[in-house]
Amino acid sequence: MVVLVPGLRGGSMSVKLTFYGAVNEIGGSKTLLQYNGTNLFLDFGKDFFGGMEHFSDRLRPAAYLQIRDYLRFGNLPPMAGLYPPTQSQFLQQEFGATLDTGKVGGILLSHGHIDHFGFLPLVDVNVPLYMSAETLEVLRFFDETGQFDLRMDQRPVTVFEYDKVVHIGNCEVLPVRSDHDILGNLGFIVRCGATSIIYTGDYRLHGKHPERVRTFFELMRQEKQHAKTVLLTEGTRLGFGSIDQLMESEIQELATRAVGTAPGLVLTNYYILDTERLKVFLRVAEKTGRTMVLQPQHMLMARKFARFDSELERLIKNAEVYLARRGSGKYLAPDYRLFEQEYLVTALRAVDIAAEPAKYMLQLDFPDLGELVEINPAPHTVFIQSGGEPLGQYDPNYTVLMKWVKDFRMDFYRIATPGHASELDIRDLVMRADPSVLVPMHSKAPEALNGYIKDTITLRKGVTYEF
Ligand SMILES: [Zn+2]
Repeated sequence: MVVLVPGLRGGSMSVKLTFYGAVNEIGGSKTLLQYNGTNLFLDFGKDFFGGMEHFSDRLRPAAYLQIRDYLRFGNLPPMAGLYPPTQSQFLQQEFGATLDTGKVGGILLSHGHIDHFGFLPLVDVNVPLYMSAETLEVLRFFDETGQFDLRMDQRPVTVFEYDKVVHIGNCEVLPVRSDHDILGNLGFIVRCGATSIIYTGDYRLHGKHPERVRTFFELMRQEKQHAKTVLLTEGTRLGFGSIDQLMESEIQELATRAVGTAPGLVLTNYYILDTERLKVFLRVAEKTGRTMVLQPQHMLMARKFARFDSELERLIKNAEVYLARRGSGKYLAPDYRLFEQEYLVTALRAVDIAAEPAKYMLQLDFPDLGELVEINPAPHTVFIQSGGEPLGQYDPNYTVLMKWVKDFRMDFYRIATPGHASELDIRDLVMRADPSVLVPMHSKAPEALNGYIKDTITLRKGVTYEF
């Protein structure tokens, strides 16, 4: 049983941090920051792999009161102001004096991955949100495709400008660009009087912009000249030891070679929000004289990010859209969601791919592998697994994917690289920043950072730490 620890009320000049996720787990980042009457959240993620032990696909929280059920097990913060008023009444009855009634000044989102924003649908639409313009596009995308009920059109959103300070209550927030496998990724330096809380969000050094990450950690070092620095770093890859990782440029080289060996169709599988990877495939298609074919949801996301990326904007013009059979199987409008319907006439279908397989590179998501029965790809069709689901052998769907690969006698290549920094890179960067206090989080093995910074905290979920 998780003990609910109430957040401390404002008024004191110390900074309080309470972690409601990303404690001994990867994902579910939700950190309450309290300073002098100001309450902020750093991310509001849904737990990916842990923290949801009390529920499953078959056992869900009560539909009418799911916030209470999550709260009971410490997976959500006990703050009345976070939730819609209808829920607050129930919460008041259930939790009484342990429920914090402080006002929520804002939720700061580092980026558009589900483990950083996924619990937002439970949050009252009046709570102010802060994020990058790119992250806002991602959240709108999830609304449009019906994957989340975020109601972004109803929420007050402040869009951060990079490196420009925003005042929220008694805190100053500096949003800093970083590098991760999604556009618009931010880290935050939150200045609270004499203490600066620094939250890395997710980052890596082997992406397209290592210089941004190095600059961020250099800023942390400088911050220490005038403030006590508390560094909250992600540690996704801690404990894995592995430092073998490809650069995006190497991925392009390998993908070009793989496509070069393909006598017929090439299938790709990247994660829909990773448009850097999409650009790799679009460049490979351009080089090898093929046409990249995307499903409507991929095209929708690519067009949203093309606003921020002129190369993507140029490359995406050469891509075609593919429509899988749905519902009736007759390509009828009611079978498709609104954003898919515009492609009913122009999209390529299985029969088109089957007629000229060597002309195309087709992005096919795992739930649509069934299309292969109709496409009937010849042996040595190349399948490039590159960050899309299933992510790895721990996922039962991986065995299913392999069955399709084997039965169609495809040539399978896993060409991918992590979105997160290696253990070595994290240690290097943390030692460079040399914070007053180090708080490893978003990790299965946070203890892997023990001993590098004198004051390193071993987190416990739901406990309030004071700095
Ligand atoms: Zn992420």
